[in-house]
Amino acid sequence: MSRVLITGAAGFLGSHLASLFLDKGYQVIGADNYLTGVRNNISDLELNKNFSFLLHDVSNPLYLDEELDGVLHLACPASPVDYLKYPIETLGVCSAGTQNMLSIAKAKACRFLLASTSEVYGDPKVNPQSENYWGNVNPVGPRSVYDEGKRYAEALTVAYNRAHDIEVRIARIFNTYGPRMRISDGRVVSNFIVQALRGQPLTVYGDGSQTRSFCYVDDEVDGIYRLFQSKFTGPMNIGNPNEIDVVALAELIIKMTNSESRIHFVELPEDDPQIRNPDISMAESLLKWSPKTSLKEGLVKTIRHFETAISVS
Ligand code: UDP
Repeated sequence: MSRVLITGAAGFLGSHLASLFLDKGYQVIGADNYLTGVRNNISDLELNKNFSFLLHDVSNPLYLDEELDGVLHLACPASPVDYLKYPIETLGVCSAGTQNMLSIAKAKACRFLLASTSEVYGDPKVNPQSENYWGNVNPVGPRSVYDEGKRYAEALTVAYNRAHDIEVRIARIFNTYGPRMRISDGRVVSNFIVQALRGQPLTVYGDGSQTRSFCYVDDEVDGIYRLFQSKFTGPMNIGNPNEIDVVALAELIIKMTNSESRIHFVELPEDDPQIRNPDISMAESLLKWSPKTSLKEGLVKTIRHFETAISVS
């Protein structure tokens, strides 16, 4: 039986990816320090005999006796609210954490996948963004802990590939949403749904003309799984190219929740990217992957998740 280590396994994306690997017949060792991950996300996984869990901060070295077929490094605060609250931890898990996980992949002679981000493109000057665009990042802005952390993590990953011949994969993940997001996640889809369900004003930052392209979580983890299985070493965009501006998203969520909430415009955070849209032609041709879930379908499932989460909170 093949076995993988998934860091950030109690996180939103990490827990969905762990479920998928278990479904595909893998043994999964999940690691998380619960900085932003939550126990509840893995309660179903813990019922599976092929899942085991390590409470561990991967910024510190980790030694495993088991043989591994892959290390998938998803651990990292990913919501701006979280990485601004934990700037040093974010840089730590991107730097020392990535190096520790690459060391494991080297020791076990197994494949390594880095969960990178569309944030490596910063506030892009081209739209859509393809993998050969180098980005427009403020190295000392508040978001740099995440942007530059992930850029360093990518550099370290390809350096291990070049210097030690480790097989590596780099997924550039664009905005992802779906069940298991926390009420307090702070990202736009979760904020708007929670606010709409509670009858509170939807907080649109700036004038809401900035765009994002939202990928439903099942599509996202399917793309990451396919990338892991592929032979492609360079970075690959995994996201949904369906671009929408933030005001339109707010209006859609108000309508879909039958909410009485209104839109409330507040200050735009520093360095908030104006546009974001993945060019996924590489994933389409090399992975035979493209997202299947429309924004409306994905939102229906996500709204249902938050209705339950709010009712028990
Ligand atoms: N945003 C917003 N209201 C919120 C949260 C976010 O208008 O309550 C905006 C934010 O300014 C950004 C976009 O929505 O332009 C996406 O933000 P998010 O934090 O989800 O992810 P990002 O793409 O910025 O990492």
